[in-house]
Parts: sequence; structure tokens; C-alpha cells
Amino acid sequence: MTPADRPWEETKVTQNATQTVAFIGLGNMGREMAHHLLRAGYSVNVFDLVASACDALVQDGATSSLNVADTVRGADIVISMLPNTPDVQSVVYSRDGILANPPRGKLYVDMSTISPEATRAMALDLSSAGIAMLDAPVSGGPIGARNAALSIMVGGQKYAFERALPFLKAMGQTISHVGEIGAGQTVKLCNQLICAVNIQAVCEALALGRASGVELEQMREVLLGGSAASWMLDKLGPAMIAGDSSAGFRIDLMLKDLRLVLEMAGQKDVPLPATALVTAQYVEARAHGEGSNGNQALFRVYDRMTGQDAVRVMDAGIR
Ligand code: NAD
Repeated sequence: MTPADRPWEETKVTQNATQTVAFIGLGNMGREMAHHLLRAGYSVNVFDLVASACDALVQDGATSSLNVADTVRGADIVISMLPNTPDVQSVVYSRDGILANPPRGKLYVDMSTISPEATRAMALDLSSAGIAMLDAPVSGGPIGARNAALSIMVGGQKYAFERALPFLKAMGQTISHVGEIGAGQTVKLCNQLICAVNIQAVCEALALGRASGVELEQMREVLLGGSAASWMLDKLGPAMIAGDSSAGFRIDLMLKDLRLVLEMAGQKDVPLPATALVTAQYVEARAHGEGSNGNQALFRVYDRMTGQDAVRVMDAGIR
């Protein structure tokens, strides 16, 4: 079907064109999400510290600005997708930031994974300038972002959520308002805790299976048909077995998230022994230069603990 066959979609795109989105942070996630806003017909103005990150979006019809103030000024909604808490704080508090340069629509949605506590503090400061803030972190990774299939967990005031919803719908499939400001980050950190502990469980099973001489791909397939099935075994298992550490959600980013989980657990007096253990393994992975590798590289920790690395080095020497 061509757009002419779908007049209702054309109407939506035309209506959306009157609304402007400022999008800040065009990395693995942000660039895909900003593209979907463009496709939905919104006018999109983008900014990234690395200017070349804006190129593909500008080619597809976005505009770009040289600083945060110019990016956000005429925006109905500002969205950020940045690595860590200090990056979001700099977008809010710097001289050319959102607080000193309120956007036209006075609505700011941070979709990064950052500290819930820092989020609440920023929301309070922004409210003094009449700007409503939502925290809306996501799950689904770059593939979910590419397919506009993200799960989005949103904290903040209900009226602000309702205003942001049409924009969020362009990027995600499961969108839930989970409570007050900071609640989105809390839910996201619980998500990360489950992911990391599950990755560790998959690594342990593969390490034991390998040491016992079973065929790992066959083991993975049969386990996926039973009660041990998981997203991690399904999606990360093949790369672990193949020794492919390259693409995906970076070890560095998961370590950042696990530290946020432990910080929150400390504040709430909740012991999280499994999270503490897997965090130590992520620190080990990073110390061995795996920070930019995908999360499946956690299996390399088990390579080292089981002497598998030494076997590979010896094999290479013999050949
Ligand atoms: P990324 O490192 O690929 O991209 C971040 C982008 O932000 C970069 O282009 C960087 O230049 C830019 N940036 C950094 N500081 C900036 C600033 N002050 N102003 C403007 N631009 C700035 O990161 P990502 O993988 O896109 O992840 C972004 C966020 O989403 C993180 O909080 C991450 O934890 C979360 N997340 C990532 C994934 C994933 O699979 N990659 C999945 C879910 C959630």
C-alpha cells in the first residue's frame, strides 16, 4: 500500500508536523527513536555532543542545532537519551541547558537509565521554571528501538504523561505510567537486576555444560523448550557459544545500571546478594578490557575462571 492508500495516516502525519520535538542524544538507541518520531510526521530538531551523530537524521529531514538552548527553544516536547546521570544533569543545569532556557511546550521526558534520586531532584528544580519532567526509561535494546517496539516505563504527573503519550507511542509498544517521578527509573533498575542475574545464570549453565562435554547449541535449543527458557538464553546464548563479544548492550552500561541498583538497595536497606555478586563479575569483565563489548562477554569471565582462555592460547601456540 502506498501512503495515498492510507489517507488516515497521511492526516496523522500532517497534524503531527505542527508539533516540534527536540531530541538530545543520538547514540545506539536515540538515533533509532528519533527516526520514528520523524516517520510519525513530527518536526524533529536534534542535538548530540558528537556533531556527526546528527548527520543521518538531518539527511532524513530533521534539523540540528549547535547547543541545547537552540535545540529546545521552540519545542513542544524535549526528549533525551543519554548515557548516565551527569550527562542528563548537564543538559538540565548547564548555562545553555533546559532550566535556563525553558522550551515552548514546557515538557521534558528523559528516557535514559539514570539515578531515580537525581531524577526527582531535577524534576523539582524544573518545576520552579514551570517545566514538567517525566522519567521514561526503556527496555528492548537497539532492536526494540529500531522496530518501535520498546517497553517504556514512565514516572511523573498523569497530565504530563497524557501529553507525552502520542510521542511515546511512536517509539514503543508497551507504555505504562508506573507512578510518581522516579518510579520509571525504579522499575527499569528492577528490570536490569533481573537481566544481569539471568545472564549470569546462562553463563554458569554454559560453563558447566562445556566442561562436561555436551554440545552447547543443542543444549540451548532443548532448554529453550522448557522452564529454563529466557530472553537471555535465546538472544545472547548464540553469541556466547560462538565467542562473539562484539555488538549489543555494552558491559559498561550494565555496570552503570547495577551500581544504580546497589545504590538504591543501600538506601532502602534491601540486601541483594545475587546482584552484588554479578556486579563484581561485571567489574572483572571491565578490568579485562570488555567494557565496550556486549553483555554476552560476561561469559568470558567464566572462560577465565575455568582456564578456557589458557586452553585457547595453548591451542593457538600448537597450531
Ligand atoms: P550511547 O552511548 O550509544 O549514546 C549516547 C549518545 O549521547 C552519544 O551519541 C553521545 O555522544 C551523546 N551524549 C552524551 N552526553 C551528551 C550531552 N551532554 N549532550 C548531548 N549528547 C550527549 O548510549 P545508548 O546505548 O544509546 O544508551 C542511552 C541510554 O539508554 C543509556 O542510559 C542506556 O543505559 C539506556 N539503554 C540502552 C540500551 C541499549 O541496549 N543500548 C537499552 C535500554 C536502555
